[in-house]
Amino acid sequence: KLYNEVQDLKGNIRVYCRIRPFLPGQSQKQTTIEYVGENATQEEVFLDTQPLIRSVLDGYNVCIFAYGQTGSGKTYTMSGPSVSSTDDWGVNYRALNDLFQISQSRESSIAYEVGVQMVEIYNEQSRFVFFNLHTLGIWNTTLPNGLAVPDASMHPVNSTADVLKLMNIGLMNRAVGATALNERSSRSHSVLTVHVRGVDLKTDTALRGSLHLVDLAGSERVDRSEATGDRLREAQHINKSLSALGDVIFALAQKNSHVPYRNSKLTQVLQSSLGGQAKTLMFVQLNPEVQSFSETISTLKFAERVS
Ligand code: ADP
Ligand code: MG
Repeated sequence: KLYNEVQDLKGNIRVYCRIRPFLPGQSQKQTTIEYVGENATQEEVFLDTQPLIRSVLDGYNVCIFAYGQTGSGKTYTMSGPSVSSTDDWGVNYRALNDLFQISQSRESSIAYEVGVQMVEIYNEQSRFVFFNLHTLGIWNTTLPNGLAVPDASMHPVNSTADVLKLMNIGLMNRAVGATALNERSSRSHSVLTVHVRGVDLKTDTALRGSLHLVDLAGSERVDRSEATGDRLREAQHINKSLSALGDVIFALAQKNSHVPYRNSKLTQVLQSSLGGQAKTLMFVQLNPEVQSFSETISTLKFAERVS
């Protein structure tokens, strides 16, 4: 394995660590941690994720996260640096691509319907940001800023390309009005949910599965002496929800009878895909620079607690 599997003993909870390589022009002064994994390609990172995608089509709920400080590669892992080249695709597009491929290969025995939804959680409020779509047609929706999703009956959606088109509308929608999109996106959690319903054509029984793909808000600690007002409030909400997430996964790993889902919007939204038969995978993302050392340590502590 080119990247480091921290632990795989807890069955339904897996934690992987991915280190962002140095970017062009950055000083190459490394921390003393010996890194493995900087050279893993998007495809290699996806390989171990692939069986989870198949299990969604078998009726499981799956949750895949990227956790780490801003700039550590969460969005790179989940979405990729651009969608124009398929080599660059992150987990999201590869997962959708697999879903469509596998469902098509089973079409003589199981009829699948797929629905996709995007939610942004910001300051403990969830906002439906992108779209709802369905393989049988996009639900006719006008987004809050007036950008209309194309009419359902005209554009049946059953491929990754169709999803990509919608993602672009969604991204535009998200960018409109936001002066600093990156700034904002690093302080909100974005959750892409894929709902799958399959009907076995022989037995006429139905199954349901879901996949949550989560690009979490940056985990960095905000200096309390510097942050005030909105910035401080954002930081407090992020801390609260990330600790709540840690607490939930910790409780599950410990097989505690009480799992504190209700403590944050994030864990409420994800409840169906955390615990029970659900499968959870977390990418713990690290920055390679020496200046990030203390954030790197706290990120690794989070990983240690949940794995
Ligand atoms: P985050 O979402 O955690 O804030 P990004 O995904 O935006 O971080 O990554 C920060 C920068 O590093 C981006 O320019 C991204 O393209 C680049 N980057 C991240 N991970 C990798 C990687 N594995 N290989 C090459 N470039 C990467
Ligand atoms: Mg990001």
